[in-house]
Amino acid sequence: MLPERLVVICDIDGVLADFYTSFSTLANDLYGTPIFSHEECLERSPLKRLLSSKQYTSLWRYIDTHQEWWLTLPRLPSITDNDACRFRHSLQRHSWHFVTSRTGDRVIYYTCLWLYQQFGIVLPHIILAKEKGVVAARFQADVAIDDTVEILEQYATDAPSTVRYVMHAPYNQVGRPSGTSEVRTLSEFLDALT
Ligand SMILES: [Mg+2]
Repeated sequence: MLPERLVVICDIDGVLADFYTSFSTLANDLYGTPIFSHEECLERSPLKRLLSSKQYTSLWRYIDTHQEWWLTLPRLPSITDNDACRFRHSLQRHSWHFVTSRTGDRVIYYTCLWLYQQFGIVLPHIILAKEKGVVAARFQADVAIDDTVEILEQYATDAPSTVRYVMHAPYNQVGRPSGTSEVRTLSEFLDALT
């Protein structure tokens, strides 16, 4: 049975933000590769296959030097304004930590601004980390949600008592650790917390 006030660890890209639409649009501008959305993404890093390693590195270097690019990410299309409102209320009720593997010296600022612009969230707690399982263990998280199979494995290994959710995506259908529950929308995830 979950406690009344939950400690929630929430990923951003692929859970709240449609990373792939903006990422592939940028690659299209620079290299002419196809644009695809979150829902069209059958593998986790398709641009790694479509671009040379030099181009792929340059793409990330561009983002590192234009960190305001993070503001161009749309919300996942399934997220409605009503969901955004429910989300803000949930932040008052539960203890949310946004954990992301984004990098850059100003990326916390832009992520903070993005959460405000997209959801009206003020002063979110953002943690930059690649070892998300360690963060979940440190915060004794009750619940964690992510879209990446490798991260779900980290949660299963490093924070086994944290209840795991995966945000549905074509690229995360295989290899999920057992005991992971799937949600198809933010709304479904918020339902699971109430
Ligand atoms: Mg993600």
